[in-house]
Amino acid sequence: MASSPTVLMRLVASAYSIAQKAGTIVRRVIAEGDLGIVEKTCATDLQTKADRLAQMSICSSLARKFPKLTIIGEELVVWVDPLDGTKEYTEGLLDNVTVLIGIAYEGKAIAGVINQPYYNYQAGPDAVLGRTIWGVLGLGAFGFQLKEVPAGKHIITTTRSHNNKLVTDCVTAMNPDDVLRVGGAGNKIIQLIEGKASAYVFASPGCKKWDTCAPEVILHAVGGKLTDIHGNALQYNKEVKHMNSAGVLATLRNYDYYASRVPESVKNALVP
Ligand code: AMP
Ligand code: MG
Ligand code: MG
Repeated sequence: MASSPTVLMRLVASAYSIAQKAGTIVRRVIAEGDLGIVEKTCATDLQTKADRLAQMSICSSLARKFPKLTIIGEELVVWVDPLDGTKEYTEGLLDNVTVLIGIAYEGKAIAGVINQPYYNYQAGPDAVLGRTIWGVLGLGAFGFQLKEVPAGKHIITTTRSHNNKLVTDCVTAMNPDDVLRVGGAGNKIIQLIEGKASAYVFASPGCKKWDTCAPEVILHAVGGKLTDIHGNALQYNKEVKHMNSAGVLATLRNYDYYASRVPESVKNALVP
């Protein structure tokens, strides 16, 4: 049943509307003014009322529409980040925020939905707020205009709020023309597919499977590549550890240029 294309497309269609609904919750919590911020492990690892409400909304909707999901979950696993870029959300950097729903089959990320609740929020009162990007491997990715960074330019996008020496060492070794420090894994993939950045480089643990599943599908569906910092593909089966311990390296084009410049010292410090 899990391998049936009908189930997959029903799941993708539901994830599209479920992510949109979660996006409206993310906007409502800001509008109401009380973020209800809780520190999870430290001051840069936060959870807000929006994370909690969006999570409940996504999970209850999925459970209602796909009561057997946990059963077919042996093969089909859904990775949910109700609010990616929470730190930036609490600091008003609203277009950094995304809702991520990724679908994996037999450990491989195959479909993904990214809702960006505050897309267009600085574009004036008439602009339509929010958008949903979605993709399925082998089918394509939709909801945006694919654009590439000008040829020969090396623009790196990396963490804004989880920086450390390894992260900086790795970025420096890429000899970039420019470095964009922004929040969110979803947001960084959007930068890659819209020609704002040529590589997403994060040489550190911290990012989880729910951060990378949906974004990696969108990137792969348009010919890009996302791996850990060693070049290993990420696995998304149910038993896999949640942490992407060996970091993230993602590009739309010229993956080998960036992969070849990851310093050995950085590789040695990051065990998969
Ligand atoms: P960033 O690029 O810092 O916005 O991180 C992308 C995703 O990984 C976000 O969901 C972060 O919360 C998560 N993340 C990255 N580094 C850490 C960390 N050191 N502690 C907790 N979460 C992290
Ligand atoms: Mg996240
Ligand atoms: Mg989150």
